[in-house]
Amino acid sequence: MENKRVNKLREAMHKHELTAMLITNPINRRYMTGFTGSAGYVLITEQEAYLLTDFRYMTQAPQQAKGFTVVEHGPKPLESVRELLASANIKQVGFEQDHVTYGTHTAYAEALQSIELKAVSGIVEQLRMFKDEDEIAVMQRAADLADATFSHVLQFAKAGMTEREVDLEMEFFMRKHGATSSSFDTIVASGERSAMPHGVASGKVIGQNELITFDFGALLDGYCSDLTRTIATGTPVPELRKIYDIVLEAQLHTLANLKPGMTGREADALARDIIAGHGYGEQFGHSTGHGLGMEVHEAPRLSKLSDDVLKPGMVVTVEPGIYIDGLGGVRIEDDVVITETGIHILTNSDKKFTVIG
Ligand code: ZN
Ligand code: ZN
Repeated sequence: MENKRVNKLREAMHKHELTAMLITNPINRRYMTGFTGSAGYVLITEQEAYLLTDFRYMTQAPQQAKGFTVVEHGPKPLESVRELLASANIKQVGFEQDHVTYGTHTAYAEALQSIELKAVSGIVEQLRMFKDEDEIAVMQRAADLADATFSHVLQFAKAGMTEREVDLEMEFFMRKHGATSSSFDTIVASGERSAMPHGVASGKVIGQNELITFDFGALLDGYCSDLTRTIATGTPVPELRKIYDIVLEAQLHTLANLKPGMTGREADALARDIIAGHGYGEQFGHSTGHGLGMEVHEAPRLSKLSDDVLKPGMVVTVEPGIYIDGLGGVRIEDDVVITETGIHILTNSDKKFTVIG
């Protein structure tokens, strides 16, 4: 059976002058094969696509890994890899240099003997940047679940609850509605803590007249969503209200102007220039966005240093923020698909300044 991802990987292998590639990163393994088990080696040659795994998966793996020859390896999986390569008379194999430790590399070198190892970076990650229709449909469901979770937050979160209580209820809601888990440790950052861009939910009690930043997502059928909204209890000090409006302006301006062909640097500047224009450039210390997919942070990057070019099929976040130490902070984040002409927004939670009880 034809497997489109295998064909694309083979094209990439040609560019790297590789006749075989060994894939061991768990997410890349799942992407290439559809196999959701926790162990296995993917070996792609010009003629064959193998998934080597152990006896526990001999029912599951052939069902999931369409277009792959599933091989049950023995106690020394690399021996099986060597035998497959040797039987095809292959003298060199690529490996994922970003996912292999020095110890693993040493083990590869010992087991593969005279077969040369060639370090390759990002070969599957480059394919993963471009989402097909099926992947975008799953990501839309993950985004819808994040939106539903935020609506739920607006119903139950109140001053007097701890951030962790709110986090737990969000986790429960996402799991109850089909998520495997949250896609990363949920950020619930209230009051002064909202000035910490990565303020994971703590035991702090949410007070009156505070901002609360929620940054969270659902991992659903292997794909992540990533949503941030900042809301208030009571009436926060005027400067916090002011930075809310600036961040929202920067976020809306970026969404309105983001399009294919732009570099990550240009996309980042859309938000950064507005925030800097209001005098808060120093308080926007992170990048405007990142790629999103099977991992919550993947290529491309929307940052001051990024030469990545945005292309149709990429899914990225747009998440400007302003953080004032000792006072509080605001971030607003949506997930978008780059289309032929602009973007399609996956997350749709309201962004007007919202006050809860
Ligand atoms: Zn986020
Ligand atoms: Zn994000």
